[in-house]
Amino acid sequence: MAAPTFEVPKLKEVSEVPRIQKGAMAHTKSYVASAAIQQAIGFPGELVENWEEKAIEKMGDLLSKYRSFKVYLDACVHCGACTDKCHYFLGTGDPINMPVARQDLVRNVYRRHFTFAGKYFPKLVGAKDLTRDVLDQWYTYYNQCSECRRCSVFCPYGIDTAEITMGAKEILDSIGYGQKYTNEIIGKVQRIGNNLGLPGPALQDTLEGLEEDIEAETGVAVRMPLNQKGAEVLLVTPSADFFSEPHVESLIGYAKVFHAAGISWTLSSHASEAGNFGLFIGNYETMRNIALRIREAALELGVKRIIVGECGHAWRVAYSFWNTLAGIGAGGNDPFSIELQQQLDPRYPAPQHICEFTYDLLKRGVITVDKSTNDHRVITYHDSCNVARASRMGDMPGGQFVIPREIIKMVANNYHDMAADTIHESTFCCGGGGGLLTDDLMELRVKGALPRMEALNNVVQDHQVNFMATICAICKAQFSKVLPYYGFEMGMVGGIHQLVSTAIQLGPKQ
Ligand code: SF4
Ligand code: SF4
Repeated sequence: MAAPTFEVPKLKEVSEVPRIQKGAMAHTKSYVASAAIQQAIGFPGELVENWEEKAIEKMGDLLSKYRSFKVYLDACVHCGACTDKCHYFLGTGDPINMPVARQDLVRNVYRRHFTFAGKYFPKLVGAKDLTRDVLDQWYTYYNQCSECRRCSVFCPYGIDTAEITMGAKEILDSIGYGQKYTNEIIGKVQRIGNNLGLPGPALQDTLEGLEEDIEAETGVAVRMPLNQKGAEVLLVTPSADFFSEPHVESLIGYAKVFHAAGISWTLSSHASEAGNFGLFIGNYETMRNIALRIREAALELGVKRIIVGECGHAWRVAYSFWNTLAGIGAGGNDPFSIELQQQLDPRYPAPQHICEFTYDLLKRGVITVDKSTNDHRVITYHDSCNVARASRMGDMPGGQFVIPREIIKMVANNYHDMAADTIHESTFCCGGGGGLLTDDLMELRVKGALPRMEALNNVVQDHQVNFMATICAICKAQFSKVLPYYGFEMGMVGGIHQLVSTAIQLGPKQ
């Protein structure tokens, strides 16, 4: 880890609301997308000439399409309940990182152009013109929101800042002012099939290498099939699972589960990415284009079930949007959606989370484990925002909180939750979600991780926790990077299927 060029916050036993530091993060501006990156995904290459007019036009378009956007902009009474709920405010003290202040950047312009009072008495209601300074502030501070939705849990009106952030990003993209990191990745997945730009033959090689590793370690020939027509299950997983640590350990875990259960499965080189960054930029057309690759792969391979690997925002898109975007689950009524619905086995949820799948197998005793193999670990669980607050799992209320914890307790003996106000729906973001997992935002990422690091530190001190499990590829990558800034080992974070992988019994070694 290079020496930080900023001050890393000190961990406290009880989280404190920071002293306000005006402009503390104004210097942190994520890299702007180049013309080539923008144009590759259908946005203007650079700021268009009449950008103010176009931005207001786009705002009007969003207001007419999405009622929630208008309600969220109208409903805020500035009660202040959300002010100390954002990890980026808690970590930086920058007042514009308070959710209500972040919302107001758009709200002020909305009032100026779309409300009577704002048009005629702008000063009275805080309405503002969209000047270049305001536009730059939008870019800076909407790229400091991970769209985690924590603030919405505490808002008495349920105002979701994430929706406003997505709206702002959609407007910025439409006038040629997009973010490099997110838009470059969207281009790769549209062109090649995954966020990493990993082509099919390279993926095949990687999977074969992993098969050899597993066999060398266990003596068992566990397969990782690619493009296997007629397989029962299509597994769609974040591409980080193919090569990043600790992600790959979970991929190995999924493969062992399929092997032990005797269920045929396949990955697809066409749909080798569960992640869908279209969500982060609030662009439903992009989200749909990415989701359609999965439908195409499912139809081509003739699978009966679609299972999603450990990825937070991917699960949100799959659970909440795949049905209407791509006809995976009841929803779409175009011929391809209908064909897919007829093809998929109605006895299983479409889509299904890998944790639901494994939990069911464990409960029914289809796969067996030796919990003592995880005895070197004292485990806690980090609820990822998009799983906790934007989706569900299984057929029970709160299944997204229960199932992952139940799996951990079924495969390991030592488990401790972090403080109640930092888990379940009150969970803190890892600090790298929503398209902010880029090195040009490292200061923001480290500081934004503070509340989670404090909660983790408390269970480390009280219970000697040495492993934080999570089911999100972004959380895994973010924590691997920021844990050392707070004096923890980067290997402390890992997936639930990493724990399953350790404990699962595949048969005797040969
Ligand atoms: S959605 Fe999350 S990151 Fe964005 S303002 Fe709310 S708490 Fe902060
Ligand atoms: S809690 Fe809701 S109503 Fe209150 S200031 Fe925040 S966004 Fe506005």
